[in-house]
Amino acid sequence: MTEGNFVDYASITIFSGKGGNGSSHMRREKFVPKGGPDGGDGGRGGHIVIKANKNIWTLYGFKFKRHFKAGNGKQGGKSRKSGAQGTDLIIQVPIGTTVKDTLTNEILMDIDSENHKEILLHGGHGGKGNWHYKSSVNQSPRFAQDGLLGSERKITLELKILADVGLVGLPNAGKSTLLSSLSNAKPKIADYEFTTLKPNLGIVPHRDYNSFVMADIPGIIEGAADGKGLGHRFLRHVERNSVLLFVISVEKMNPKKEFIILQKELKKYNRDLLDKRFAIAFTKADMFDDSLLHSYQQEISSLFDAIPHFVVSSLSGYNLNELKDGLWKLLQWRK
Ligand code: GDP
Ligand code: MG
Repeated sequence: MTEGNFVDYASITIFSGKGGNGSSHMRREKFVPKGGPDGGDGGRGGHIVIKANKNIWTLYGFKFKRHFKAGNGKQGGKSRKSGAQGTDLIIQVPIGTTVKDTLTNEILMDIDSENHKEILLHGGHGGKGNWHYKSSVNQSPRFAQDGLLGSERKITLELKILADVGLVGLPNAGKSTLLSSLSNAKPKIADYEFTTLKPNLGIVPHRDYNSFVMADIPGIIEGAADGKGLGHRFLRHVERNSVLLFVISVEKMNPKKEFIILQKELKKYNRDLLDKRFAIAFTKADMFDDSLLHSYQQEISSLFDAIPHFVVSSLSGYNLNELKDGLWKLLQWRK
């Protein structure tokens, strides 16, 4: 990864479960009055497990939950019955997450594939039941071992984010407004050396558990393709974006022409960008009354028949869910 990627951080504390105590049960039955020790072992405490989830794109969820505790093991029973194991706690993180020890900064795990599933913190061992301690000198030990305590560890999750959806549009198209009405959080931007023109990043929640990162990159069109100012550097982020969203205001009389202008600008910089999956958002739909909106939508549908397109309003929220669904669908093709 190159400089200037966006990093999302979360610090959490994890606790593995305590092992269950061994049992010191003595067997007592009607015809076996002195049956001897038969206490079972305690169950082990629950582990903390880290698992990749390819449908999670950010560490946003960890902003609200910072303590993660696995279950405790249960005590052993009579008849040498072992106690139940504590429930493992599975922490799901996006692919690309690095797990570090907060105190030492040691890297504990790199989550680099969708199959990654690994124990980070082991639960405490269960204690041994009293029957283990039976010997020739002590036929009926009344003691059993206690389960071992679980462990606690502070960890830091770090995720390098590449924007998933990049907004491309002329000034005043409504990009910033769209981003702020779709997103509900901003990841921390680390190591970002450009101070004058920061890309505006937002995390867009989608349906129940999904989210994606949207970037409004100022200066992308304004002279960016000629390498003017900082725009050139920013365009590199768009190169890595999975999906482009062209943003065009419904105020523009000739939407087809607007779209061609945007495409040309991108092509000047790097024609490979045109191979990206993309959609178009026609913004500020609230400026039309119902009948105008209807005829505009018909016009757009015939002009952009083969391209996913959405007539939306950031102000009224009109069609924003459809837009998110459409973007999400495009993102699913991501390798
Ligand atoms: P950007 O330059 O592409 O980031 O555009 P902005 O988001 O800054 O918006 C430019 C202007 O359009 C601002 O005055 C916004 O208030 C206005 N605007 C943006 N979205 C909407 C919308 O959905 N409806 C209306 N009526 N105005 C909008
Ligand atoms: Mg803007």
